[in-house]
Formats: sequence, structure tokens, C-alpha cells
Amino acid sequence: MGVNIDWNNLGFDYIKTNANLRCRFDGKRWSQISVTEDEYIRMHIATMGIHYGIMAFEGLKAFRGKDGKVRLFRPADNARRFQSSAYKLCLEPMPTDVFVEACIQLVKLNIDFVPPYESGASLYLRPLMYGSQVAIGVHRCPEVDIVFFASPVGPYFKGGMQLIKVVIDRMQDRAAPRGTGDIKAGGNYASSLLSGEKAHDMGYDNVMYLDAAQHRFVEECGAANFFGIKNNTYVTPASPSILPSVTNDSLRTLAADMGLNVEQRPVTVEELKTFEEAGACGTAAVISPIGSIYDIDTQEYIDYGKTIGPVSLALYNRLRDIQYGRAEDKHNWCVIVE
Ligand SMILES: *Cc1c(COP(=O)(O)O)cnc(C)c1O
Repeated sequence: MGVNIDWNNLGFDYIKTNANLRCRFDGKRWSQISVTEDEYIRMHIATMGIHYGIMAFEGLKAFRGKDGKVRLFRPADNARRFQSSAYKLCLEPMPTDVFVEACIQLVKLNIDFVPPYESGASLYLRPLMYGSQVAIGVHRCPEVDIVFFASPVGPYFKGGMQLIKVVIDRMQDRAAPRGTGDIKAGGNYASSLLSGEKAHDMGYDNVMYLDAAQHRFVEECGAANFFGIKNNTYVTPASPSILPSVTNDSLRTLAADMGLNVEQRPVTVEELKTFEEAGACGTAAVISPIGSIYDIDTQEYIDYGKTIGPVSLALYNRLRDIQYGRAEDKHNWCVIVE
């Protein structure tokens, strides 16, 4: 490989690759996808997207497998979620085939940046869309700009999975019912930044967000979905303000394959202490097993033990094995790039 990167010490920082892709909807039709080395977006000062947060993003990964093949994990599912984000923000949705083709093209152009198999690292793909019309009034934005860039990223947990400490803090809600919590809008991250920072300052890894209307139900764990395991059942919260995670969907399928029951339903804060295992899940880490949860307001402390639960570990290994080509991909999740 021709690039000079210390593959075993990659973090989650931006690294310049060979090329990124641009695409534009002018209000009538999509442009061809163009390839550029330019890392900058030049935009008008009155671009609607950045004034009013009319923007959405995606995150997915490409993996170099044990067999040397490079696999994209479920890109069509990210395409569909990108479309639902666009719909809710009144932006033109990008067709699934165009999105998937762009991901494949981006990986091919940056194939030298897909980390070697042994590193446990991957190439992260970041599609981003924003309303690019120049205007001051607030209204539907018929012009859309899309960027697809990639960056090699390290495994989330260096030296193996680690238990995380989670805090329930009601100082800030992540998303309102019937708001934008179920789409990948940039503003959702903006509105959970302050509480996340406070949690880190207090020594916690993540904030557990509760439903904004009653603060009775579990929603998300940082920027990841939550699941709990008990009585041979995989339980994950259902709520209109939870972001539908592709990882969580995959884990539900794998849990069912393993003979577990799968329940997607409201989960109260009181139920948390009844789980045998708990975890956060998303593309970044697949699973972050939760070691403890502390509720700031009730001062209740839940300890899930000092070791990673067997079900969480089995689910994690099954998913990673599919992504790295070590296990049969019987649900056809991977798209082989080359
Ligand atoms: C992206 C995201 C997730 C994880 O989704 P994946 O598709 O599994 O990566 C979970 N919660 C929030 C709020 C997110 O933005």
C-alpha cells in the first residue's frame, strides 16, 4: 500500500484521503457525481442549510476482510435513512442506487486508505447533505448539495472491548417527541453536546437520554441506541424520537438467529436494574457494553458487573465476523467493493 499511516494507532480523527465526491440537485435534476481532491466547500454566506440547520448526514464503514476483499456494510440501509432524513427536512432525497454507487466509488478511489485486516480498523464513510439555496427566508430548500468523504478510523476500543460508565442526567433532552430525533440531523448532536461534556467532566463515558415528555423511558445512550438482555431476550426501546440504528437492526436479527427473543418496546428507567447485560450500539463501536448506570437525580446506581456479558460478546463477535468476512453473510448485508 502506498500510504504512510500507522494503521495500529488510528483514532477517530479526520485523515485526508485521495478524493471525495460531490453531487448537486439544482431543483430539477441530480448532477453527475464529480470527484475532487479539494477538501473545502465554498459556499455563499446566505446558504440556507447552515443558517437553519437544514442538513443531515450518514455514517457507514468499509472493512478489509480476512480474505482480502473490501466490504461495505448495509449501504442501502444508510441510503434509505438518508432519504427519510431528507424527507423530514424538505430536501430532495437521493435515490438508493445513486447513494450506494457513490459509496462504492468513494471506497474504490480511496482503496489504499482501507486499513489492513490485521489492524481491526476500517474506512469510515461520511455522506453529508445540506440545503444550498441562497435565501434569508425560511422555506423548503429546492437546491441540495451532497458531499461524500472518507477517513480511515481505528477500532473504537483499543486493546479490546471495555465496559463504559453511563449517567442519567435530565439537564438536557436529546430530541423531542415528533421532532427530529428519528433522523440523522446535525442539530441533534448540537443539542446533546452540553450534557455530554458535563458527563465527561464528571468521569462518565456517556449520557443516557430519556424521553423528553415524561423522563420515564429510556431513549438513547449518547449517540448510540440502547439494548438490554434478560431472560434470553434482547430488549431495545421503541420511541418515535430514537434514531433507527442499522447496527441495532443487525443485532436484533443476529439475536433472533441465536435463539433469543427480541422485543422492541418502551423501556422504563425502573426496568434498567432488571437487565442482566446492557449495551450501547452503533456503527462506531458496534457494541459498547455498559458496566454501570448512575442516575444523578435519584442517586440510584446499577452495577452490571466487571466483565462483558456473554450475550453482548457473542453478538459483537457475530457482527464483526460478518463485516470482516470470517462468517457467512447469510442476510446479504455486505456489498463487496473489490
Ligand atoms: C447514527 C446514530 C446511531 C447509530 O446508528 P448506526 O446506523 O447503527 O450507526 C444511534 N443513535 C444516534 C442518535 C445516531 O445519530
